[in-house]
Amino acid sequence: MSAPEMSGLMPVEEAMQRLMDLAAAAAPITERVTVALADAQGRVLAEDLVSTLDLPPWPNSAMDGYAMRLADWTGEPLPVSQRIFAGQAPEPLQPGTCARIFTGAPVPEGADCVEMQENAEVQADATVRFLEPLSTGQNIRPKGQETTVGDKVLDAGTVMNPIELGLAATMGFGRVQVVRRARVAVLSTGDELIEPGQPLGPGQIYNSNRVLLCSWLTRLGCEVVDAGILPDNLEKTRAALGSLNNVDLILSTGGVSVGEADFLGHALREEGEIALWKLAIKPGKPLTFGHFRGVPVIGLPGNPASTLVTFALLARPYLLRRLGVQAVKPLQFQVPAAFSWTKPGNRREYLRGRLEQGRLVAYRNQSSGVLRSAAWADGLIEIVEGTTVAEGDLLNFIPLSEVMG
Ligand code: AMP
Ligand code: MG
Repeated sequence: MSAPEMSGLMPVEEAMQRLMDLAAAAAPITERVTVALADAQGRVLAEDLVSTLDLPPWPNSAMDGYAMRLADWTGEPLPVSQRIFAGQAPEPLQPGTCARIFTGAPVPEGADCVEMQENAEVQADATVRFLEPLSTGQNIRPKGQETTVGDKVLDAGTVMNPIELGLAATMGFGRVQVVRRARVAVLSTGDELIEPGQPLGPGQIYNSNRVLLCSWLTRLGCEVVDAGILPDNLEKTRAALGSLNNVDLILSTGGVSVGEADFLGHALREEGEIALWKLAIKPGKPLTFGHFRGVPVIGLPGNPASTLVTFALLARPYLLRRLGVQAVKPLQFQVPAAFSWTKPGNRREYLRGRLEQGRLVAYRNQSSGVLRSAAWADGLIEIVEGTTVAEGDLLNFIPLSEVMG
């Protein structure tokens, strides 16, 4: 039996699989909107983008230089019969001549190589001598080398970021269909919470999860319904959940440990359904998944570092999958540890850490309440349950930049 099974905790992979199944079972977010390409940044593509062009559309020069026919090169200088700039349509190459050509310009019919200007010597009579031997196709970007007509270049479900936008532009798409934005409500639960900017009363702490999640969701292209702070009170919890009936997901933080203040759980049990998962994850562990009058609810643990890790690794992929994104798992890399880990745990740990001289260093304080650990860090260092780590061992590292957008 694995370490989490022995402890009765749900392994991270299983939670992920369940969330993917729940995302597939939920009403899919399929409504499409057509937007100008520049406005598609961060949005999920709703259509396959199939090229109607060959790219490049014609052979073009990769260099500033001279286009010629290899068979015409004898070592003797050649006269220049035309000048071809990018954006011009050339004449066929006259036999026994070369054409002055600039980067990106169409290679004239009849030419089969381009010599860069650095290897050419203009003679007093304006003919050009080529100093190096040439080869067929040299410095020519062939027609269709990137894309040919009918190629599916971007799949529906791709998140459009600057590179994808650029690629869509190369094929001439001025507008694209994207999935409508997901509407996500953010609720912060806790009597102790107060918004930053207000004076702090006795026993109060500032609400950090609200701005963290709202801004993160905005980066993910969601429409955020900021539902503010919810006091630890069943009546108010019920009312708040009930008012959020036109969203795709309610994301709450806090109040999910099975304590007396588990009002989210109470409300879900009364008017919906709830699954309380005890995850083999650290920071994290308690996570609620339920529905309130049909609206999916994810209750994340309240400690800021736990909120961060469970949102990054579980709620974010769930949300992206709801939008039809297939590649929801962040990239991770194997990097040697600069530390050792001698006590195997029964939960998978995600240490907030960073790379220093090619090795992973963990922040000095890994308490789930310490958000500063994540601000210091570049990523999450994964320590698999039941394992120990010796200095130099390879560990998975998930850059935070991977999950922030
Ligand atoms: P809970 O799950 O409600 O017991 O919260 C666990 C811990 O996280 C407690 O110390 C809370 O004060 C803290 N916490 C809960 N929500 C927030 C929040 N929105 N911002 C900062 N800390 C929070
Ligand atoms: Mg609480």
